[in-house]
Amino acid sequence: MNCIFCGIADGSIKSQLVYEDEDVVAFKDLNPQAPTHLLIIPRKHIARLSEADEKDALLLGKILLVAKKLAQQFDLKDFRLVTNNGKGAGQSVDHLHFHLMAGRRFLWPAG
Ligand code: AMP
Repeated sequence: MNCIFCGIADGSIKSQLVYEDEDVVAFKDLNPQAPTHLLIIPRKHIARLSEADEKDALLLGKILLVAKKLAQQFDLKDFRLVTNNGKGAGQSVDHLHFHLMAGRRFLWPAG
């Protein structure tokens, strides 16, 4: 399988890592859409949230807690955490990832 984010998770593709543990990796987005724009991914290849199942419950919870930890570490008071599920929702990389963005005003509903 040729997956950029699996490559980042196993270190074979360079990235600006900001967090890693045995299950989760976070790094700076290559094309930031906000002053702070991080991506949080599971090491496990799950293509998108709709492909996750019950046995991923702990992993998904862990990702949210990593988001919280990074928000504290980067001193983000207000932030947006979002995942695009499927091409129609804007997903361009088929490995589950959560965008953690902050540092500008965000519109709601999201565009
Ligand atoms: P999405 O469109 O929701 O699938 O988000 C994919 C994100 O991955 C985009 O914001 C890209 O800028 C980002 N991206 C793609 N390749 C890399 C890379 N090698 N390192 C860091 N971010 C990347």
